[in-house]
Amino acid sequence: MSDVMIEARSLKKNYGLVQALKGVSFEVRKGQIVGLLGPNGAGKTTAMKILTCFIAPTDGTASVNGCDVFADPMGVRKAIGYLPESTPLYTEMLVLEYLDWIAQMRNISKPRERIKKVVEQTGLTEEIGKPIRALSKGLRQRVGLAQALVHEPPILILDEPMSGLDPNQASEIRDLIREIGKERTVILSTHNLAEVQVTCDRVLIIAKGTIVADDTAAALKARGGKARFYATVPRALADNRAMNALEAIVGVERVQQGTANDGDVEFEIVPTGTNDLRQDIFNAAVKGNFPLIGLRREGANLENVFRDLTIGNTGPAETPRGRANGGAPKSGDSSNETKPAAEDGAVQKENP
Ligand code: ATP
Repeated sequence: MSDVMIEARSLKKNYGLVQALKGVSFEVRKGQIVGLLGPNGAGKTTAMKILTCFIAPTDGTASVNGCDVFADPMGVRKAIGYLPESTPLYTEMLVLEYLDWIAQMRNISKPRERIKKVVEQTGLTEEIGKPIRALSKGLRQRVGLAQALVHEPPILILDEPMSGLDPNQASEIRDLIREIGKERTVILSTHNLAEVQVTCDRVLIIAKGTIVADDTAAALKARGGKARFYATVPRALADNRAMNALEAIVGVERVQQGTANDGDVEFEIVPTGTNDLRQDIFNAAVKGNFPLIGLRREGANLENVFRDLTIGNTGPAETPRGRANGGAPKSGDSSNETKPAAEDGAVQKENP
């Protein structure tokens, strides 16, 4: 029997003119924890909503635990525990009431037994009598995980589970996900590179609706990415002299202006190849007559790999006729945003 738990085949999704997914294919095997990593607007949430039958793809298809999202949406929903980006928690309810209600909706036999187990698993035993509104963000996220686990799904889909948490809460949730992931297949989306390195066995990088890398975090890191050079000039230097001189160096791909910690101007210089440009940068400063008060080289790392793969791929997805106007708003849109599928779980194929 195949151990493929999730299979996406040429998934496309258009929201009006915005092409959020442009033919995404991937597989997730049993027991893997896969990180879906990408900049804002890359299409992560859209992919997750399709896999959980919250929205239908414009084209392509997907199957989860052997159930096709079109032919057997109920099978998909049974196999999946989903933690959306903003969990729809009813904050006036007590934790126990809320989980009871979810268990009822899921038609779970022996709900109290199951809730007890899930509450222990997610470390909520002391909170079950409290109203959800009284919980910290980290504890609320645990309630979100508990509701996703109530029906004992073999697959968990978590949309930015650590976002908005303080570092301690994030680390606790990360540990919890790793623990839960020992017995399950997990796919989680994130912007956070450190997070995928410690949590995920495998990383799918998505940019502008396309998968641009599929590997382990270690293998991606080994690709190296390009080194960066950082040149600092005093903040008083307000003209374009430095930028122009740095951009003119042979072997420079691009220069980006930022701010150093003390308020001075820091330029990030990306080389076209592997040459050490420090001497050229120094010479450019002498020739351009601007003071260089700092110069350093930063070796390749996962962040650079990510940036090299996704640079120019941030922001709104392209439309078939050009770029979208700043990214369409996510809520209030006419497409079936975070709306549960029809009562019977059915999703309808949409017109492109
Ligand atoms: P983020 O990390 O910001 O949550 P994401 O990678 O999850 O981003 P998506 O939310 O899937 O990206 O969005 C992909 C593209 O589709 C974006 O350009 C977004 O503006 C657009 N989009 C998403 N949902 C809708 C919607 N309901 N209506 C119109 N456009 C949408």
